[in-house]
Amino acid sequence: MSKTILVYAENRDGKLRQVALETLGAARLIAGDGDSIRILVAGSNITEAVSALKAYGADTIYTVEHDDLESYNPEAYISAIEAVIGQAQPDAVLFGHTAIGRDLAPLVAASLNAGQISDVIAIETEGGEAVFTRPLYAGKAFEKRVFQNGPWVVTVRPNNIPAAEAIEGAGTSIEDIAYPAPSLRSVVKDVVRKTTGKIDLSEAKIVISGGRGVKSAEGFQPLEELADLLGGAVGASRGACDAGYCDYALQIGQTGKVVTPEIYIACGISGAIQHLAGMSQSRVIIAINKDPEAPIFKVADYGIVGDLFDIVPLLTEEFRKVLVS
Ligand SMILES: Cc1cc2nc3c(=O)[nH]c(=O)nc-3n(C[C@H](O)[C@H](O)[C@H](O)COP(=O)(O)OP(=O)(O)OC[C@H]3O[C@@H](n4cnc5c(N)ncnc54)[C@H](O)[C@@H]3O)c2cc1C
Repeated sequence: MSKTILVYAENRDGKLRQVALETLGAARLIAGDGDSIRILVAGSNITEAVSALKAYGADTIYTVEHDDLESYNPEAYISAIEAVIGQAQPDAVLFGHTAIGRDLAPLVAASLNAGQISDVIAIETEGGEAVFTRPLYAGKAFEKRVFQNGPWVVTVRPNNIPAAEAIEGAGTSIEDIAYPAPSLRSVVKDVVRKTTGKIDLSEAKIVISGGRGVKSAEGFQPLEELADLLGGAVGASRGACDAGYCDYALQIGQTGKVVTPEIYIACGISGAIQHLAGMSQSRVIIAINKDPEAPIFKVADYGIVGDLFDIVPLLTEEFRKVLVS
């Protein structure tokens, strides 16, 4: 029997997030012949996101546009999503495993009385059945899960599933769905952004992270220079955040953000299990630490034993030469 797969296309301030295309990529991995992939875009100013998505050949793009959806508010968003679900009658709903996706997915699962598989990093099909891989115990083990019956709700970890590519000449129909305008019990008055807003840490392809070894807020400066040069984002251990060297918005780990960049450079981070929980799935891990026994070297693909204040500027200089030539 053919399935309808609904992809929640996350956008921020009307701009499509990279994870939206990865979620669409996940839908394509799940879809069999005759299955229908549809996209849901909700927000207060979604014209740009919708027009970007037209090139991806979904069967339908459902749009819900309303001022209530300007800032993320679960009450408003869940009613927008339920309105689309009422129209699309999906067999599966897919979200990015982002702060918003992690919030919305269980609400949708409860509303649909559906099973949920979260934080998926790979999808294979075995005999036509979708098999979802997700990490356990801070990435020390992986489990493969399948759904026994539907509907399905899935969240996909950013930077793991290849993003869907545009399909040349693709056409798609757009269906505007009326926002049900529920009476909201709370509303967002203002959003105060704490991060620099340069590159989203959880979507960055390169992350340069500092730990207690950076020793001060100024100690992050060489890391920022390297990140700027490579087009990456700066992250931190909780040790660095607790010491007041940087904002908690940068914290990576069990109680911080989970990142899976292509390159993770840990500078002056010992490699505590709680930190590893947030970065051990990175494709290539480079550790810079002056203690050769630091546990971070056990998970690192490349280790540099030395003082980060010597090594990081050297790396920046060498990368600059390579990038300029
Ligand atoms: C419930 C719970 C949740 C937690 N959640 C998190 C979390 O989400 N994220 C997280 O990171 N931690 C978390 N922690 C804290 C974690 O256990 C560690 O305490 C923390 O990660 C240590 O940070 P650090 O590696 O920066 O500091 P340290 O362990 O002090 O390590 C500093 C490292 O820097 C090296 N160093 C010092 N100077 C230099 C230099 N000049 N050049 C090179 N290397 C140098 C040292 O050799 C050392 O290895 C949590 C702890 C608990 C109990």
